[in-house]
Amino acid sequence: MNYNNSEFLASYGLSRQLPDSDRPEIVFSGRSNVGKSSLINKLCNRKKLARVSATPGKTATINFYRVDTAYFVDLPGYGYAKVSNAERERWDDLINSYFEADRAVCLLVQLLDSRHAPSADDVQMLEYLHYHRIPFVAALTKGDKLKKSEMAARKEEFEKICAPYGCQGVVLTSAENGLGMDELRALLEASMTP
Ligand code: GDP
Repeated sequence: MNYNNSEFLASYGLSRQLPDSDRPEIVFSGRSNVGKSSLINKLCNRKKLARVSATPGKTATINFYRVDTAYFVDLPGYGYAKVSNAERERWDDLINSYFEADRAVCLLVQLLDSRHAPSADDVQMLEYLHYHRIPFVAALTKGDKLKKSEMAARKEEFEKICAPYGCQGVVLTSAENGLGMDELRALLEASMTP
Protein backbone atom coordinates (compact mmCIF):
# COMPACT_ATOMS: atom_id res chain seq x y z
CA MET A 1 0.00 0.00 0.00
CA ASN A 2 1.29 3.44 -0.84
CA TYR A 3 0.89 5.44 2.38
CA ASN A 4 2.15 8.57 0.66
CA ASN A 5 -0.99 8.65 -1.46
CA SER A 6 -3.49 9.94 1.10
CA GLU A 7 -6.14 12.60 1.41
CA PHE A 8 -8.65 13.78 3.97
CA LEU A 9 -12.18 13.13 2.71
CA ALA A 10 -14.64 14.44 5.29
CA SER A 11 -15.85 14.48 8.90
CA TYR A 12 -19.25 12.99 9.70
CA GLY A 13 -21.27 13.84 12.77
CA LEU A 14 -24.25 11.72 11.79
CA SER A 15 -24.07 8.11 10.70
CA ARG A 16 -26.53 8.55 7.85
CA GLN A 17 -24.00 10.87 6.20
CA LEU A 18 -21.30 8.19 5.96
CA PRO A 19 -19.98 7.49 2.47
CA ASP A 20 -20.64 4.18 0.73
CA SER A 21 -18.44 1.33 1.89
CA ASP A 22 -16.69 0.80 -1.43
CA ARG A 23 -13.16 -0.08 -0.27
CA PRO A 24 -11.45 -1.84 2.66
CA GLU A 25 -11.56 0.12 5.91
CA ILE A 26 -8.96 0.35 8.67
CA VAL A 27 -10.48 1.84 11.80
CA PHE A 28 -8.65 3.75 14.56
CA SER A 29 -10.08 3.98 18.06
CA GLY A 30 -8.81 5.32 21.36
CA ARG A 31 -9.38 7.76 24.15
CA SER A 32 -9.08 11.40 23.48
CA ASN A 33 -5.42 12.58 23.58
CA VAL A 34 -3.98 9.04 23.31
CA GLY A 35 -2.15 10.07 20.12
CA LYS A 36 -4.54 8.88 17.39
CA SER A 37 -4.12 11.82 15.00
CA SER A 38 -0.36 11.73 15.47
CA LEU A 39 -0.23 8.01 14.67
CA ILE A 40 -2.34 8.39 11.52
CA ASN A 41 -0.09 11.22 10.37
CA LYS A 42 3.04 9.20 11.06
CA LEU A 43 1.71 6.13 9.21
CA CYS A 44 1.01 8.33 6.19
CA ASN A 45 4.23 10.34 6.44
CA ARG A 46 2.22 13.52 6.76
CA LYS A 47 2.29 16.40 9.24
CA LYS A 48 -1.31 17.53 9.06
CA LEU A 49 -3.48 14.87 7.44
CA ALA A 50 -5.23 14.39 10.80
CA ARG A 51 -5.48 17.29 13.21
CA VAL A 52 -3.33 17.00 16.33
CA SER A 53 -4.97 18.78 19.22
CA ALA A 54 -3.36 20.45 22.21
CA THR A 55 -6.70 20.37 24.04
CA PRO A 56 -8.69 17.15 24.02
CA GLY A 57 -12.42 16.88 23.59
CA LYS A 58 -13.23 18.32 20.20
CA THR A 59 -16.66 17.59 18.75
CA ALA A 60 -17.24 13.91 18.09
CA THR A 61 -17.01 13.13 14.40
CA ILE A 62 -15.91 10.15 12.34
CA ASN A 63 -13.16 11.30 10.02
CA PHE A 64 -12.54 9.55 6.74
CA TYR A 65 -9.22 9.51 4.94
CA ARG A 66 -8.45 7.77 1.69
CA VAL A 67 -5.08 6.07 1.89
CA ASP A 68 -4.25 4.56 -1.46
CA THR A 69 -6.90 1.87 -2.06
CA ALA A 70 -8.24 1.87 1.51
CA TYR A 71 -10.16 4.13 3.87
CA PHE A 72 -8.67 5.07 7.21
CA VAL A 73 -11.60 5.66 9.55
CA ASP A 74 -10.81 7.80 12.57
CA LEU A 75 -13.43 7.27 15.28
CA PRO A 76 -14.07 10.08 17.75
CA GLY A 77 -11.90 9.89 20.86
CA TYR A 78 -13.66 8.83 24.04
CA GLY A 79 -13.10 9.27 27.76
CA TYR A 80 -13.01 13.02 27.85
CA ALA A 81 -14.51 13.94 31.21
CA LYS A 82 -16.05 17.27 30.28
CA VAL A 83 -18.53 16.18 27.60
CA SER A 84 -22.27 16.49 28.22
CA ASN A 85 -24.58 13.49 28.40
CA ALA A 86 -26.08 14.50 25.07
CA GLU A 87 -22.63 14.49 23.47
CA ARG A 88 -21.87 11.10 25.00
CA GLU A 89 -25.09 9.69 23.59
CA ARG A 90 -24.29 11.05 20.18
CA TRP A 91 -20.88 9.33 20.43
CA ASP A 92 -22.59 6.00 21.24
CA ASP A 93 -25.03 6.41 18.35
CA LEU A 94 -22.27 7.25 15.90
CA ILE A 95 -20.10 4.27 16.88
CA ASN A 96 -22.99 1.81 17.00
CA SER A 97 -24.37 2.84 13.66
CA TYR A 98 -20.91 2.70 12.09
CA PHE A 99 -20.36 -0.90 13.21
CA GLU A 100 -23.93 -1.98 12.52
CA ALA A 101 -23.77 -0.73 8.93
CA ASP A 102 -22.03 -3.87 7.70
CA ARG A 103 -19.06 -2.03 6.25
CA ALA A 104 -15.87 -3.56 4.86
CA VAL A 105 -13.92 -3.32 8.15
CA CYS A 106 -10.63 -5.24 7.78
CA LEU A 107 -9.05 -4.29 11.04
CA LEU A 108 -9.42 -1.92 13.95
CA VAL A 109 -6.36 -0.41 15.58
CA GLN A 110 -7.11 0.15 19.26
CA LEU A 111 -4.76 2.77 20.66
CA LEU A 112 -3.69 2.49 24.28
CA ASP A 113 -1.24 4.71 26.14
CA SER A 114 1.88 2.57 26.71
CA ARG A 115 2.60 4.33 30.01
CA HIS A 116 -0.66 3.59 31.78
CA ALA A 117 -2.95 0.66 32.48
CA PRO A 118 -6.06 0.77 30.27
CA SER A 119 -8.72 3.15 31.64
CA ALA A 120 -12.26 2.03 32.44
CA ASP A 121 -13.30 3.47 29.05
CA ASP A 122 -10.54 1.52 27.31
CA VAL A 123 -11.73 -1.70 28.94
CA GLN A 124 -15.30 -0.93 27.88
CA MET A 125 -14.07 -0.47 24.31
CA LEU A 126 -12.15 -3.78 24.46
CA GLU A 127 -15.34 -5.47 25.66
CA TYR A 128 -17.28 -3.87 22.82
CA LEU A 129 -14.76 -5.11 20.23
CA HIS A 130 -14.82 -8.59 21.70
CA TYR A 131 -18.61 -8.74 21.91
CA HIS A 132 -19.03 -7.57 18.30
CA ARG A 133 -16.17 -9.78 17.09
CA ILE A 134 -14.38 -6.87 15.49
CA PRO A 135 -10.87 -7.94 14.44
CA PHE A 136 -8.35 -5.70 16.16
CA VAL A 137 -4.76 -5.10 17.14
CA ALA A 138 -3.52 -2.80 19.91
CA ALA A 139 -1.10 0.03 19.18
CA LEU A 140 0.61 1.20 22.37
CA THR A 141 1.29 4.90 21.91
CA LYS A 142 4.01 7.27 23.10
CA GLY A 143 6.55 4.44 23.34
CA ASP A 144 9.33 7.05 23.18
CA LYS A 145 8.39 7.96 26.76
CA LEU A 146 9.25 4.50 28.07
CA LYS A 147 12.70 3.52 29.22
CA LYS A 148 14.34 1.07 26.83
CA SER A 149 14.66 -1.40 29.71
CA GLU A 150 10.89 -1.46 30.39
CA MET A 151 9.65 -1.75 26.78
CA ALA A 152 9.55 -5.53 26.47
CA ALA A 153 7.85 -6.03 29.83
CA ARG A 154 5.23 -3.34 29.07
CA LYS A 155 4.39 -4.93 25.75
CA GLU A 156 4.05 -8.32 27.41
CA GLU A 157 1.75 -6.86 30.07
CA PHE A 158 -0.54 -5.40 27.40
CA GLU A 159 -0.52 -8.67 25.47
CA LYS A 160 -1.80 -10.42 28.59
CA ILE A 161 -4.45 -7.75 29.17
CA CYS A 162 -5.69 -7.65 25.56
CA ALA A 163 -5.58 -11.32 24.57
CA PRO A 164 -8.82 -12.31 26.36
CA TYR A 165 -10.67 -9.76 24.21
CA GLY A 166 -9.49 -11.40 20.98
CA CYS A 167 -6.65 -8.97 20.26
CA GLN A 168 -4.61 -10.19 17.29
CA GLY A 169 -1.35 -8.39 18.09
CA VAL A 170 0.25 -5.67 20.18
CA VAL A 171 2.69 -3.16 18.71
CA LEU A 172 4.68 -0.61 20.68
CA THR A 173 4.64 2.62 18.66
CA SER A 174 5.81 6.19 18.73
CA ALA A 175 4.64 8.98 16.46
CA GLU A 176 7.64 10.90 17.74
CA ASN A 177 10.39 8.59 16.47
CA GLY A 178 8.56 6.13 14.21
CA LEU A 179 8.91 3.12 16.50
CA GLY A 180 6.65 0.25 15.41
CA MET A 181 5.40 1.86 12.18
CA ASP A 182 6.68 -0.87 9.87
CA GLU A 183 5.31 -3.57 12.16
CA LEU A 184 1.91 -1.87 12.29
CA ARG A 185 1.83 -1.31 8.51
CA ALA A 186 2.53 -5.02 8.01
CA LEU A 187 -0.48 -5.90 10.21
CA LEU A 188 -2.73 -3.49 8.30
CA GLU A 189 -1.68 -4.95 5.00
CA ALA A 190 -2.05 -8.55 6.15
CA SER A 191 -5.63 -7.73 7.19
CA MET A 192 -6.46 -6.42 3.72
CA THR A 193 -5.06 -9.45 1.89
CA PRO A 194 -7.91 -11.83 1.14
P1 GDP B 1 -5.64 12.31 19.72
O1 GDP B 1 -6.52 13.21 20.54
O2 GDP B 1 -5.73 10.88 20.15
O3 GDP B 1 -5.80 12.48 18.23
O4 GDP B 1 -4.14 12.70 20.10
P2 GDP B 1 -3.10 13.65 19.33
O5 GDP B 1 -2.46 12.95 18.19
O6 GDP B 1 -3.78 14.96 19.07
O7 GDP B 1 -1.96 13.81 20.46
C1 GDP B 1 -2.24 14.25 21.76
C2 GDP B 1 -0.95 14.77 22.40
O8 GDP B 1 -0.01 13.71 22.57
C3 GDP B 1 -0.25 15.83 21.54
O9 GDP B 1 0.31 16.79 22.40
C4 GDP B 1 0.84 15.03 20.84
O10 GDP B 1 1.95 15.84 20.48
C5 GDP B 1 1.21 14.00 21.89
N1 GDP B 1 1.70 12.75 21.24
C6 GDP B 1 1.07 12.02 20.32
N2 GDP B 1 1.80 10.94 19.95
C7 GDP B 1 2.95 11.01 20.67
C8 GDP B 1 4.14 10.16 20.74
O11 GDP B 1 4.28 9.13 20.06
N3 GDP B 1 5.11 10.54 21.61
C9 GDP B 1 4.98 11.65 22.38
N4 GDP B 1 5.99 11.92 23.23
N5 GDP B 1 3.91 12.46 22.35
C10 GDP B 1 2.88 12.14 21.50
